Amino acid sequence: MFDLIIQGGDVVTPRGVVRADVAVAGETIAAIAAVGALPVDLATRLIDARDRIVMPGGVDPHVHMHHPWSLPDGTTLTTAGPEQVGRAALHGGTTTLIDFAYWREGATAMQAIESRDKDFIGKSPCDWAYHIMLHSEPRPEFSGQLAEAIQAGYPTLKIFTTNILPSRRGRMIDFGSIWEAFLVFARHGGLGVIHAEDNDIVMHMYAKLIREGRVGFEHLSEVHNQLSEDLSFRRILRLAESVPGTALYMMHVSAGTGVAAIAEARRKGLPIYGETLHQYLGYTAEDYKRPNGQIYHTYPSLKSEADRQALWQGTVDGVIHAVATDELCCSLKDKIAGNRIDDTTGGNSGVEPRLGVMYTEMVTRRGYSLERYVDLVSSNAAKIMGIYPRKGAIAVGSDADITIMDPTRRGTVRAADLHESDYTPWEGHEINAWPTMTILRGKVMVENGRYFAEPTDGRYLKRRMSQDILRGVLP
Ligand SMILES: [Zn+2]
Repeated sequence: MFDLIIQGGDVVTPRGVVRADVAVAGETIAAIAAVGALPVDLATRLIDARDRIVMPGGVDPHVHMHHPWSLPDGTTLTTAGPEQVGRAALHGGTTTLIDFAYWREGATAMQAIESRDKDFIGKSPCDWAYHIMLHSEPRPEFSGQLAEAIQAGYPTLKIFTTNILPSRRGRMIDFGSIWEAFLVFARHGGLGVIHAEDNDIVMHMYAKLIREGRVGFEHLSEVHNQLSEDLSFRRILRLAESVPGTALYMMHVSAGTGVAAIAEARRKGLPIYGETLHQYLGYTAEDYKRPNGQIYHTYPSLKSEADRQALWQGTVDGVIHAVATDELCCSLKDKIAGNRIDDTTGGNSGVEPRLGVMYTEMVTRRGYSLERYVDLVSSNAAKIMGIYPRKGAIAVGSDADITIMDPTRRGTVRAADLHESDYTPWEGHEINAWPTMTILRGKVMVENGRYFAEPTDGRYLKRRMSQDILRGVLP
């Protein structure tokens, strides 16, 4: 009758933490009951979760897998794909990853999705989805394609307001085109996922620092600065306000100015959500000065200690809703190949330690409730991205994506113990919890470090935005 009963853990449910037994039948959660109340003789397997936390599998809404990029010398590379990153994610308790399908001139939005499927189908042990990512200025017919994609279960569109680096062209989208996309979001229930920086300020600072000979990457926070985040967030949020019903998710918020802009939009009742990255919560621009300081970097940039504190405050105030990784998994050699403000790679490896590090930072060090922690690493992203309560919830009928955390585990993060890359920006970081078991749709994928997943286990997640999220309410 039941395939698994997870017994006696502290279960983080949408209604709070309860000590309970959780029964799984097939791929979904079949029952949550008082400890001992379920008929154990009807279960294929019993899992002892006493003194453990039973939480929904982590959801990382911002990763880049099998991603093409170039080293400063022009060598082109592809970053680690879903098989490697997914294995690391599962070892770290994350079961769902949301990546990007690159839409370029000459293809339709649906063709962009189909072409990206080749990198994932049969290769992803985690469940996954894509944001469609605009990679060139859309033609007028894109509005119709976007509406179709939203209806077909692909409701999120990534938009850049900057080319990020002087050498890149075509990524920045014109505000007229963004306005058109917002009209489609508002009409058809889409969500904009936004990389906002002020391109004028950023490119001005590149030119200025290059002129002054201050080109080391330790100056990145002067280029991708607080003013850029302030101006760009306020401009795009004002545009969203002008099209009632436009919902946006601001990716990798890095500065106090970004937090303030989102807070102001939310005070007006606008459906605006904020994401930050665990690097931005953990590190500041001072860390660029450490050996191999590039390993802490992702775009926009690390900022000051005051910014870091503002991001933390944002997680308390309901302004920062999700902690993602901006995963871009490569070797240390490739990560530190660039060392200038204009050739240092963004992205990072961090999908594996995310849950353990954030538990330590949030629950142990800052006293967050387990519910708030789970919201920030799983449930909120599932809600905002239109996969809740299938994902991000321990509830009857939800997918049985379950992570069992051991909060008595003490140790430090070592790249050598992880399954991600040959480096981690979290090397030596103290941890006070680590997953002992990760279950995806009822299948035990990782148990005490042993890996049972197959690259064919993952499934694509079609998504639909909830009315609450489109109204700005996190239920
Ligand atoms: Zn990214």
